Amino acid sequence: MDYTALRRVSRAVEVGGVRIGGGAPVSIQTMTSRPAGDLAGTLDQIYTAADAGCDIIRVAVPTLKDIAYFEAVCAKSPLPVVADIHFDARIAVAAITAGAAKIRINPGNMENWEGIYQVLDTAKVAGIPIRIGVNGGSVRHKNKADSRELETAVVAEALGYAERFEEHGFHDIVISAKISEALATIRVNRELALKSSYPLHIGVTEAGVEEDALLKSAIGIGALLVDGIGDTIRLSFTAEPVREVIAGKRLLQAAGIIHEGAEIISCPTCGRCRINDMPDLAREVRDRLSAISKPVKVAVMGCEVNGPGEAAEADVGLAGAGNGIMLFAKGEKIGVFTREEALKKLLDLVAEL
Ligand code: SF4
Repeated sequence: MDYTALRRVSRAVEVGGVRIGGGAPVSIQTMTSRPAGDLAGTLDQIYTAADAGCDIIRVAVPTLKDIAYFEAVCAKSPLPVVADIHFDARIAVAAITAGAAKIRINPGNMENWEGIYQVLDTAKVAGIPIRIGVNGGSVRHKNKADSRELETAVVAEALGYAERFEEHGFHDIVISAKISEALATIRVNRELALKSSYPLHIGVTEAGVEEDALLKSAIGIGALLVDGIGDTIRLSFTAEPVREVIAGKRLLQAAGIIHEGAEIISCPTCGRCRINDMPDLAREVRDRLSAISKPVKVAVMGCEVNGPGEAAEADVGLAGAGNGIMLFAKGEKIGVFTREEALKKLLDLVAEL
């Protein structure tokens, strides 16, 4: 099934050569977490994220003093850089001049609209888009105790800011409305999708440590993606940024949005399993194939009795055999090897596909 045909039609914006919306592939974002000023650490995270398949990187610029650092990041980054700005419009203006490919602000925490209009004017001259990032936490501060009331307020606030941007003549808008609950995230974004044509940046904010956040994101972001909603995504983990990128790619794969990369089929194992370290082997195969971009199905099965048969649709696979590990391709046995040999031959076969 071609899921791209089912996607919501949104306007397009351009972020340093990466298109968001307008039918473009769903892009993956993450945010660096090194302290502002740590140029080497930040660039290291950006290169690692880029290698893992990240499309756009966001960097916090907390004060005006951090502009020289931000300028250096933009100059050296292999990915378009989004400046994340709070409170002070002057930082946003300076970040645009320093080379930002996009700005993310929450107009609700900026001091006044004169400052915001300066940001809009500067961004317009630079030809870069702005993401209006509203999140549940900042709206909740305004005494929205009831969760449905909060969701309605988040949607109204985001669209209200967008309207003011448009009235000022600024149209290159991306909207994000983030809430830390998955179901609320789904409801809010469905509403935004119905009421506007802005490209939507989807994420469940403050989602937690990796395992918990992955589940929340799979539900929150995943449900929207299968609805055809979402132009760019960011998974939000309390972990290294590259973890968010890897998980983002897997989420897009699981939602049927992208077909690139290795899909690992591995069995849950049972009393027939002939591989002692089956979970480790499955993980190793997955990790060693995480950087490939061509679509390939690889199976790791516990036994040869059912293994190749159950995983017949796999391009290549491994299955535990009494005297080693069997390598198979398209359901046909190739041979039985030691663990290391089998793994190496499997990677070679994938490379040749
Ligand atoms: Fe059990 Fe073998 Fe099936 Fe894995 S492939 S679940 S070990 S029967």
